[in-house]
Amino acid sequence: MKKKLCVFLAMLMAVGSLAGCGKFTCDLCGEEKSGKKYVVKYEGEKATLCKDCKELYDSLMKLSQLISD
Ligand SMILES: [Zn+2]
Repeated sequence: MKKKLCVFLAMLMAVGSLAGCGKFTCDLCGEEKSGKKYVVKYEGEKATLCKDCKELYDSLMKLSQLISD
């Protein structure tokens, strides 16, 4: 039973529809990462970011807010 669940989860990960665990490719740095992934919206497009790029993205968003104010 447990093994079947694992196979099922692995299949879900393979199609990239399972958030939060497994490996993913960061849309910004293009590296394959494991661990937490962050999905952000940028100009209507969804992007999947690793933790490092999410931090970069956040600081860029803050900067652009400062500039537009
Ligand atoms: Zn990244």
